[in-house]
Amino acid sequence: MKNNPFNFTPPATARPVKPREDFGELEATELYCSECGYAVPINKFLLLVLPDGDRYEYRCKHCGAKVGDKIDRSGQFYGILKG
Ligand SMILES: [Zn+2]
Repeated sequence: MKNNPFNFTPPATARPVKPREDFGELEATELYCSECGYAVPINKFLLLVLPDGDRYEYRCKHCGAKVGDKIDRSGQFYGILKG
């Protein structure tokens, strides 16, 4: 009888379960601001509700400069438009 390499059970300590408090990893909370010259906390504004998603804009909390934007295709307003 051979040993089955796929039957290996790792010790419990091999896969530590770490608490997930940073669940918003897809959501930017800091971006580089060219006005301030460093990564800054940002405010997120809903600009437009488009058929293909919600258009958001990120602005620097310190100086208000635009530091980025994104289209959120699973936005909360999408259902309202369709409904
Ligand atoms: Zn700034």
